[in-house]
Amino acid sequence: KKLRIAIDGPAGSGKSTIAKILAKLYNLIYIDTGAMYRYAAYLYLKNNQNLDIVINMLKESEFNFVKDGETQKLKVDFHGESKLYDDELRTVDVSKIVSKVAKNKDIRIILTEKQKEIAKNNSVIMDGRDIGTVVIPEAEVKVFLSATPEERAKRRLKDYETKGIKISYEEVLEDIKKRDEEDVNRDIAPLKKADDAYELDTTGLSIDDVVRRIKELIDK
Ligand code: C5P
Repeated sequence: KKLRIAIDGPAGSGKSTIAKILAKLYNLIYIDTGAMYRYAAYLYLKNNQNLDIVINMLKESEFNFVKDGETQKLKVDFHGESKLYDDELRTVDVSKIVSKVAKNKDIRIILTEKQKEIAKNNSVIMDGRDIGTVVIPEAEVKVFLSATPEERAKRRLKDYETKGIKISYEEVLEDIKKRDEEDVNRDIAPLKKADDAYELDTTGLSIDDVVRRIKELIDK
């Protein structure tokens, strides 16, 4: 039987950490849709901020996720060439503009279509902003994770530190707040809890706590 889990929530709410753990436990493919929007933003920076070029490239790109130890990378096949992406999608520069790029209607149509296609044929855990509302409204399990902006900024700062990226707490907090505001207020597929999603405020909860709560929901 197919199992599809949708995890939505703002930046730093713990979506990817939790999704990776659950993917292992339930043998699901983990689809990080944020990585696909980040790839669009990366192309935007690489191509003189020309959205038409980005849109055309996305149309002709095939996306897959491949395991690499404990993490995974986005594999993009484009015109017969295959490349893996990870760190280059998580830079401060990409983070700062990704929400702007993600507002573009054509980009959302293209990426949403590709995400729906993956979810149609596989048991997946997919995380993002519009998974429970738009990409997999028929998901068996829907979760909406939240946490205070301060807690989320602290978590993101840790991620950056692990990668050796220098940035201040204030700058991370500001980026997160700005991104939330753009994601919540955009016209198409805004960041929103699906009516039938289980909402969990992860502020002060450990990763184990969150995993346990969602496992209960899945096993019910
Ligand atoms: O999940 P992550 O923080 O990497 O996502 C980066 C950005 O991509 C988000 O801030 C949002 O603007 C966009 N995004 C989106 N819809 C999704 C996933 C991500 O608009 N399903």
